[in-house]
Amino acid sequence: MNYDSQPASSPATLAEARRSACPGLVRVVAARDGGLCRIRLPGGVLSAAQARAIAHAARTDADGTLELTNRANVQIRGVRAGQEAALTAALIAGGLGPANGVQTPANLCAADELRNLMLSPLAGLDPHALFDTTTLAAPLVAMLQNEPRFAALSPKFALLIDGGESLAALDHPHDIWLAATREGDATRFAFGLAGCPDDGATGSIAATQVQALIRALLHAFLDLAAPDQLRMRDVIASHGAAALLDAAQRHADFAIPTPQPAADDHAPANWQRPRVDLTRRLGAHALHANGDGYVGAQPPLARLDAATLDALADLAERHGDATLRITPWQGALVPHVARAALMPVLDALRALGLSVDAADPLARTIACTGSAGCAKSRADTKADALRLAPHLPPHVQAHLSGCERSCAAAHRAPFTLLAAAPAHYDLYERDASAAGFGRLVARHLTLEAAAHAIAQRAPEPF
Ligand code: SF4
Repeated sequence: MNYDSQPASSPATLAEARRSACPGLVRVVAARDGGLCRIRLPGGVLSAAQARAIAHAARTDADGTLELTNRANVQIRGVRAGQEAALTAALIAGGLGPANGVQTPANLCAADELRNLMLSPLAGLDPHALFDTTTLAAPLVAMLQNEPRFAALSPKFALLIDGGESLAALDHPHDIWLAATREGDATRFAFGLAGCPDDGATGSIAATQVQALIRALLHAFLDLAAPDQLRMRDVIASHGAAALLDAAQRHADFAIPTPQPAADDHAPANWQRPRVDLTRRLGAHALHANGDGYVGAQPPLARLDAATLDALADLAERHGDATLRITPWQGALVPHVARAALMPVLDALRALGLSVDAADPLARTIACTGSAGCAKSRADTKADALRLAPHLPPHVQAHLSGCERSCAAAHRAPFTLLAAAPAHYDLYERDASAAGFGRLVARHLTLEAAAHAIAQRAPEPF
């Protein structure tokens, strides 16, 4: 397709298109259980003081229910009608607003939404990582917020940078992703568009070119996107990656690599690192030779209350460096814990009711908000997940979704239960040859029948 023949979208039309019902710090959207406020945390970093501010605001202006998201953000649910502005003001006063030169409600909203930058939860912490990506975060967010044209990006548009840490989300379908790779003695970044790193890199660049590359790709996206094309995958589908990179080249002062066959000498070498052990998102783990490390935990079905968030802040202050890292697996890490304190922190997290072991059925079950909070849901997925989890075979992961939007999982789970009616689900099994949730196994199953069908298909544990 010749992209030059397509009408370029003006920032105004794209800005209009992006005003979806996407919640934010300023845009508190209505849900069945009250207002929904999403607090974006670039890199998933949350200070203990910020956590306490969120907990206080959730108690004062909402019903105290909090949620961790698969983009490593925090949501406040149940915001009381009429309290939205007070909630936003309290969160900004707590240091959770966008930082850069924000003066009006309109640019406050846009700046808030231009913070979708995901890093590994161990960014800047893992001594074996190839690159400390936390050094990139502030300049990138500043660029997103300060370049006027980028206000036309969708609030869903997201960037992922993988620094080669031992714990990282590799399968998130971000609009632009970069992955650190070792080429000779140099660390470079492979990059790709609208997919996960397994889908193939387009090339590699020097670490010093990361920001300029992202800037060029964002301009190219806006050059080509029609008003209804909010994500990179939409533009790639209509124009192709080569056209996008061609457009990006016009915004860069260095040569942007173009797609190369894997066997080509100019393809980024060895960028596909082995799968990481995602069980390390939970439990106590040493990172340094002296045994110091971090402890990871996950609240049941991503929900926690304000008191639990206060308790997490307390643990981070007493045993860590007064920060938390929210993970894309809807959990949290307490970093910088001394070796002697790892087990006490682990016990404290368990006592709070959080999963600290990947074998825990609730650590293997995810569910979207469901009918208690979302009008689109055909079933109470959270309540059903609590009933299903104890009956899952060991090691099996399941995802319950109230509708096709799959808010709880950007990735494809091994087994997905898609609500058909209250307490009844269609069962899908992950299958590389099938799109969406995978291969449809059976329709309209009760929870008991779904558990039985999953058990019949579950792989034997190692
Ligand atoms: S997946 Fe569907 S039902 Fe579940 S929270 Fe999202 S929109 Fe609502």
